[in-house]
Amino acid sequence: MNIIFLGAPGAGKGTHAQRLMHKMNIPQISTGDMLRAAIKAETELGLSAKRYIDAGELVPDEVVIGIVEERLAQEDCKNGYILDGFPRTVAQAEALKGFATIDVALNLSLPDEMIIRRLSGRRVCLKCGGTYHISSLNGREDCEACGDKLVQRKDDTPETVQNRLNVYNAQTAPLIDYYEKEGLLKTVECLGTVDENQAAVEKALNL
Ligand code: ADP
Ligand code: ZN
Repeated sequence: MNIIFLGAPGAGKGTHAQRLMHKMNIPQISTGDMLRAAIKAETELGLSAKRYIDAGELVPDEVVIGIVEERLAQEDCKNGYILDGFPRTVAQAEALKGFATIDVALNLSLPDEMIIRRLSGRRVCLKCGGTYHISSLNGREDCEACGDKLVQRKDDTPETVQNRLNVYNAQTAPLIDYYEKEGLLKTVECLGTVDENQAAVEKALNL
């Protein structure tokens, strides 16, 4: 199954995509993780993407479209994949049509005030993509999954979070209508615990 995760920053795309990856044994393809890995490795891609990401702006369409097309051509995507954070603009969705067939676009929905709280307390593992909230870490500073040190993303500060929400509302939210018209949209209200929301995600996918 080829799945797209839609939703505002902090709606839980990364968390649920990772759980689904383990359950379905198909890769999670997170453009945010790929870009952050490129920044960490100081590649040309990373250097050009960094200023957009730190400011909460979108990286230019042609850049992300290129990395996703290349990634989906790899062997491990043959039996399906979960796109997490792509597409983020209508232009990206149009380009995706040229090299992929999507089965479902899952929209994770959450009120704005919950988003701010979640993002400002978020800690991430840059090695494996794990995400945590300080309220459940009890002071622990390393990743439960791989042991690497957890960090706060530069774009998880309050000013940048607000800008990312504005960018989301202007550029990405129109994809909800877009996939509705394509007949591929399913919406999951993510107001419960992670486990409850995960159950709702799996139900929406008939798993
Ligand atoms: P979140 O969903 O929490 O905002 P991501 O890790 O998906 O975080 O993305 C972080 C940043 O990476 C975005 O704010 C943006 O700058 C960049 N990015 C990720 N995916 C895309 C994309 N599909 N198009 C443009 N920029 C992207
Ligand atoms: Zn980790």
